[in-house]
Amino acid sequence: MKKYQGMNLENVKNSNQSAVLRLLHNKGAMSRKDIAEAVGLTAASVTLICNELLEKNIISELGEVAGEKRAGRKKILVDINPEYKKAMCIAIEMDVTYLSVTDMKGRIISTMEFETVSDDPEGYLKKVSDAAARLLWECDVSKDRLLGVGVTVPGKVDPKLGVSLGTNNIWGRALPVGDIIGDSLGTEVMVENNLKSSAQYEILFGHGRSERNIFLLKWGPGVGSSMIMDGQIYNGANNAAGEIGHMTLGKNGRVCSCGRRGCLEAYISTHAILDDVKLMLGDASRYKADLSLLSGDEVKSLMDEKMDRMAISLRNSMSLIDPDRVVALGYMFDLPGMFDRFKDIYKSYDTTMADDFIVKSELGTKGGHIEPLAMLLNDFLSY
Ligand SMILES: [Zn+2]
Repeated sequence: MKKYQGMNLENVKNSNQSAVLRLLHNKGAMSRKDIAEAVGLTAASVTLICNELLEKNIISELGEVAGEKRAGRKKILVDINPEYKKAMCIAIEMDVTYLSVTDMKGRIISTMEFETVSDDPEGYLKKVSDAAARLLWECDVSKDRLLGVGVTVPGKVDPKLGVSLGTNNIWGRALPVGDIIGDSLGTEVMVENNLKSSAQYEILFGHGRSERNIFLLKWGPGVGSSMIMDGQIYNGANNAAGEIGHMTLGKNGRVCSCGRRGCLEAYISTHAILDDVKLMLGDASRYKADLSLLSGDEVKSLMDEKMDRMAISLRNSMSLIDPDRVVALGYMFDLPGMFDRFKDIYKSYDTTMADDFIVKSELGTKGGHIEPLAMLLNDFLSY
């Protein structure tokens, strides 16, 4: 909101409605009385808001509070209706593209994945649109039941225009992702950087519900981060804050996909690691086919050296931004023992670290890559 901005009555109403929906999203089912107390509105106002939301099917009544037997009026709970609308989530990652249809609570109704291809980006995005249309049809989601279509991509994004400004590893040029998929599906499409969207997910569904300052660290296939400060995602002047992967570790280092030298990512991306495994063992195909082998003894010293670089970068970032928590996500952290080993290595640089300072995201790779839901839901909950 701008610094000086008045609110007319319609905005006040929408703002109150938004506050009630955000509260219900965060806390789950509540009585009207408890809602009124939490948002600081009169019981009559909350009743009016709830009636309107009930009429639109956005919330539903859940009946009496369990176990409460008392005289007088029954305490009816209300909650966001998970079936109100469905979200189409499209997560484009360096190697794999994930498509999922979810309900309002983030429950996955159907999901599919296929390989991300980098040549002919327009043709690839058409394939993504066709797959999304098919999935929506299979899930019986008509346009009026669609919360929205959200697309996340690595690299810089202009969310207002729905344009990917270029990903170093998939397409090296600006691409109107929102228009291409939107024209094909006949609906509006929201586009956001994948890490920003994961951070939004963390705010709405994960550790962000209890902590205001979070550093999100993602590892695999690249490495990146996103900063949640005072409950808000910090974007930076050029929407490029949090590029921990492009933190410089030394002069004349390895050439990075960004064109500079010596970046963290040039050493610890999955591709860089597999190149080093090949140098060390003469062949990396076994490891490429089964990344869990990277947890094995044969490459332990190599992986320790990789994680040491990441630990130094993280430690230096921590001394600048001082978050409540570091939330780790990405498939490299999901490999057997890898997350705990990284924590141990990090601890050697921060011996007083609390054990729960670095935690794993609830949005694991097993979560189905539904981070695009967060931007759609955030848009829905905003007024
Ligand atoms: Zn770089």
